[in-house]
Order: sequence, then C-alpha cells, then structure tokens
Amino acid sequence: MTPDVDCVVLGAGVIGLACARELAMAGHDVLVAEAEAMPGAGISSRNSEVIHAGIYYPRHSLKARLCVRGKHLLYDYCAERGIAHRRLGKWIVATEEAQLATLESIARQAQRNGVHDLVRLTPEQIRAQEPELRCVAALASPSTGIVDSHGLMLALQADAANHGAEFVFNTPFIEGHMSDDGLFVLQFGGSDPARITSRRVVNAAGLHAPDVARRLAGQAAASIPPAYYCKGSYFMLSGRAPFSRLIYPLPDAAGLGVHLTLDLAGQARFGPDVQWVAHPDYTFDAGRAPLFERAIRQYWPGLPDKALLPGYTGIRPKIAAAGRPAADFLIAGPSVHGADRLVNLFGIESPGLTASLAIAQAARLAIAPGA
Ligand SMILES: Cc1cc2nc3c(=O)[nH]c(=O)nc-3n(C[C@H](O)[C@H](O)[C@H](O)COP(=O)(O)OP(=O)(O)OC[C@H]3O[C@@H](n4cnc5c(N)ncnc54)[C@H](O)[C@@H]3O)c2cc1C
Repeated sequence: MTPDVDCVVLGAGVIGLACARELAMAGHDVLVAEAEAMPGAGISSRNSEVIHAGIYYPRHSLKARLCVRGKHLLYDYCAERGIAHRRLGKWIVATEEAQLATLESIARQAQRNGVHDLVRLTPEQIRAQEPELRCVAALASPSTGIVDSHGLMLALQADAANHGAEFVFNTPFIEGHMSDDGLFVLQFGGSDPARITSRRVVNAAGLHAPDVARRLAGQAAASIPPAYYCKGSYFMLSGRAPFSRLIYPLPDAAGLGVHLTLDLAGQARFGPDVQWVAHPDYTFDAGRAPLFERAIRQYWPGLPDKALLPGYTGIRPKIAAAGRPAADFLIAGPSVHGADRLVNLFGIESPGLTASLAIAQAARLAIAPGA
C-alpha cells in the first residue's frame, strides 16, 4: 500500500518545526499535525529565549553535545535568515565564599563539554562593569545569547513549507498502530477527523510526548518514560534593567536558579523558579513575589520593593521525578522501542530551544538514516 505521506510530525513547537524543516529539506514528503490553532502554542512560547552555551550538562550527555552543536547551528541560522538575536553574554555568580567550589566545578564542566571561552572575572572587573551586582566571584560566558523564539519558529516553518511540508492545525493525534504492511495508521480528531497512513513518525508533542507514545501501538511499553511537570514562573521588572547582560546564580536541583534575562527590547525578567505540579497548568501565582525578591536580592540588593510585575509561566517536560537526578534528552528511535521509522522525543526541556536544529538532525538520523 502507498502511504498518504512519507513522514508525519506530531506537534508544531520549535522541535516539531525544526524536524519538519530537516526532513523536508532532505527530500521527505512531510505533514505536520498540531493540536492547537497555531504553531508554538506550547513550551516553545513560554521560556527564557536564551541561547545556552552548553556549560552545565554531564559530559557526553545529549544535552551537552546537542546544546553545543545546536548553539553554533542556531547562531549561523539566525544570521542566515535574519532572525533577531544578540550575543549578550552571561555571568554566573557566586554570592558567598561557600559557593566558590561549585563555581569552579562549573568552569571545569564547561571545559569538559567543549565550552572553552569562559572567563573568570576579577572583583575590579565586576565592579566596573556591573556596579549594582553583589557577588564574590563570577564566570563570564561570552557565547550565551538571546533569540526571538517566534521569529525562529516562523523561519523554520517557512523553510519546511518551501520544501513542500504541509501543516494542519486544530488536528490532535488520537491513536495509531502499525499496519501489516509496515505503515503507521494515525487517527486524528478535531472538527475534521481524519485517518492518515505514513511511513515515518516523529513524536514531538512536548509535554504530551509520553502520552502520545502510549497511544501509538507497537512499541515496547517499558521504553516510554513517565511524564512529570515542573512549572517555572517569571516576573517582569518594572523600570530599567540594572544589568547589561544575563545574570545567573548557581543552578539548583531542577533549574538554573532565579536568573535575570533580558529580551531583545532590553526588558528584564526574572525566573523561572521551580514548582513541581501534578498537571500542566499555566496559571500565574503573584503570591510567589516574596520568594523571588529574596532570591534576587542575593545578587541584586538594590531591587526596589514592589518592582516585580506578574509575567508568565512555562512547564518543563520532565521524565525524572522531583528529587531524582535530571534526565538527559531521550531521542527514542527504533533501537529503543522496537518500532521501525518512529522517533519519540522525550524530556526536551532546556536547552531544547538552543539545541533544536541539532535535535532535528538526530531525529532524522533515527528514522531516515542515509536518506
Ligand atoms: C520555563 C522554561 C524555560 C526554558 N528556557 C529555555 C531557554 O532559555 N533556552 C533553551 O534553549 N531552552 C529553554 N527551554 C526549553 C525549550 O523551551 C523547550 O525545549 C522547547 O520549547 C520544546 O519544544 P517542543 O517543540 O518539544 O515542545 P512544545 O513547544 O510544547 O511543542 C509541542 C507541540 O505538540 C503539540 N501537541 C501535544 N499533543 C499533541 C497531539 N496529541 N497531537 C498533535 N499535537 C500535539 C502541542 O500543542 C505543542 O504545540 C525552557 C523551557 C521551559 C519550560
């Protein structure tokens, strides 16, 4: 039987869009099916928009390798496609002597990951460049930057479409199975339910990727991880940003600490914090402001009272429970679950935006090696 399409991508966040572009540019006939009315309505619109350097992750992990590779690909892509971005740099700061050993271990980890451009700053350099910053030591990361995530997604979608990819919105994947002749038979809902056959499938459903995988029969159940949700809230700063680069305290168990990032207009925002939740839920709790003020004043004692304005929330798609070591990205191809030409992208939390182009290459190799 001839399939309706060669490849279906489930989900049109930054990862699904990057995969669609990668596959379409490699000559595949691609259909992207998205549950929501527009691309990027999930995690990809609710993050810090930071191009990460690749500093913290365990050596040889996918997060380390794909972040470093993805960062280079992303800077090149932004330049080539005119996507707004700035290589602002970031400082990682130790606010007390007891944190110095951790700061040094971060510098060593960066070296191990191939990030060789970190600079240790002297107290004089810190005072001269960021007089409002309180810290005892800082590491500068010049290759960290910021990107317009919406501009990135528009460019990815346009590239995919220009290479023949088609997009359908308001079209949630419901369930699927493998036919006797080795094609995926996929059932979609929405106002215009449809059944589509495809030779390949990319599951890029973000927070819902484990659930989508469970509804696609033919995979080893043990290969599908559980889904956990870790919310991060952001507050915006009313008034002028106190710093001219991104400022990060030392990372904590599930995130990178309540850091200060800047958007492309220079607006400062603080976050995300860490709050494990039972279900994805984007409601904003303004009552978290005192927790933020305490965390921010560790490195910016000059934060005025009542200067934090409610911002937004994002949800990290975790595949390891609270209290467990952070999981790596899980790019689960046939060798993991036993179903040919299917790849599930699980646990694509930060630095997924940075790594998106590199993840797309890895996903293509998993289902179309040599194609
Ligand atoms: C708080 C926070 C801050 C972050 N900050 C950064 C950062 O600064 N830098 C960085 O590099 N990374 C960052 N990340 C990570 C980055 O945002 C994600 O890795 C990336 O956006 C994941 O994209 P995605 O396409 O996998 O998910 P999503 O954008 O959520 O896309 C998945 C899509 O699948 C769709 N979908 C779900 N179920 C179905 C279905 N049944 N059928 C069809 N479609 C379906 C959804 O509607 C959604 O549009 C951050 C993440 C969070 C949560």
